[in-house]
Amino acid sequence: MKGLYVHIPFCVNRCGYCGFYSEAGQAELTERYFDCLIRDLLSLNEKKYDTLYIGGGTPSHVPPFLLAKFLDKISDIHFKESTIEANPESLSDEFLSVVKDFGFTRLSMGCQSTDDGVLRLLGRAHSCADVFRAYDMARKKCADADINLDMIYDIPSADNARAKKTLSDIISLAPEHVSAYSYSFDTGYLADREPHEDSLYLTVKHSLQNAGYHKYEISNFAVRGHESLHNINYWMMGDYDGIGASAWSMANCDGKRILRGKASDISGYMDDPESFVSEEVTEGIQRICEDVVFGLRMLDGVDISGLNNKYGENIRDVLKGPLEHLEKEGLTRWNGEKLCLTEKGELLLDSVQEYLWGFLP
Ligand code: SF4
Repeated sequence: MKGLYVHIPFCVNRCGYCGFYSEAGQAELTERYFDCLIRDLLSLNEKKYDTLYIGGGTPSHVPPFLLAKFLDKISDIHFKESTIEANPESLSDEFLSVVKDFGFTRLSMGCQSTDDGVLRLLGRAHSCADVFRAYDMARKKCADADINLDMIYDIPSADNARAKKTLSDIISLAPEHVSAYSYSFDTGYLADREPHEDSLYLTVKHSLQNAGYHKYEISNFAVRGHESLHNINYWMMGDYDGIGASAWSMANCDGKRILRGKASDISGYMDDPESFVSEEVTEGIQRICEDVVFGLRMLDGVDISGLNNKYGENIRDVLKGPLEHLEKEGLTRWNGEKLCLTEKGELLLDSVQEYLWGFLP
C-alpha cells in the first residue's frame, strides 16, 4: 500500500485545541500555494498510489477551482480510495461539484459536536444547523461517496449529556464512518488516571457498536467494509508521500524507515516546495517497536507472526519482558498470533505506548 497525502493549511479561524498546522486569513496566498503543491507533486514523478487523502486545514475553505486545477494533475492515477476533508461552514455546492467530478470515494466532515455551546467552546466556525445542512447537501450531491463525521467528546467543562446528544445526532444521520476523539485522552488528561467503567469512552464505543458500527481503531468506527484504507496504512507504518506545508512522507527501504518532513509553515514551504527540511531514520528494534505501538491502535491487534517474517526475528523473544509485563497488567491479550489491547488497555493506551517507548535503548 502506498498513500498520497496533500495538506491544505487554510482555515476560517484557528480552533484552540487544534494540533494541525493551518493559518486563518491568508486567502491571498492560496493561488500561489496551489502552484507550489503542483510543483511538489510533479517532482515526485510517481503514479502508483493506492489512496489519496486531501486534508488540512480546511480543503472546503479554499476556492474550488484551485482544488480542481490540482486534481486535474492526478486524474490519471487510479486510487482505490480517495478522501477529502470539509467543514460544515464552508461546504458549498461548488465544492461538492469538484468532489463529485473527481469521484472522491470519501468525504470527511469536521462535525465535532452538535451542541452550539460546545462548538463555541472549541472555537469552531460552524453551528449545529450547519452540520445538518452540510450533511444533507453532501448526501444528495455525492450519493456514491462514504461520509465520515468527526466528533470530540470528554471535553473538560462540557457535561456528558452534550456528548451523548452529539452521538445520537450522528447515529441518526447514519454516516458510513465515525471518528470519535477524546479531547482529554488526546491531551494526555487520562494518562495518570485509572480506567473507570462509566467513562465516556465506553459510552461512545458501546453506543456506536450497538448502532452497527465496527470499532476497528482506537478512535475509528465504520460500517464493515467502509474503513479508511489511507489511515490503516498509517497505523501499519506503510509508505506514503506527503506534499504541502508541514506534510510528512514515509518510506520503508533497505531495512530502514525514513520519515521526511516539509517546511512547517506556508512561507517556508513556498520558498522551496520540492525539498524536505527534516529527516528521521528508524531501524532495528526501534522500527519493530514502532510497528507494535502504532499497530496496537488497530483493534484486531498486531500480527506478530507477520512481523516475525518481515524482520526475520522472533518478536515475542525480542520484546519478551515488556510484552509479558503488559499482559500481566491486563492491558494486552493474545488472540492467536495477534497482540491486542484489552478494554483496560484501550482506556490506558497512552500509558501502554509510553511504556513501550520507554523500553527502547
Ligand atoms: S478547522 Fe480543523 S484544521 Fe482548522 S483550526 Fe480547526 S481543528 Fe484545526
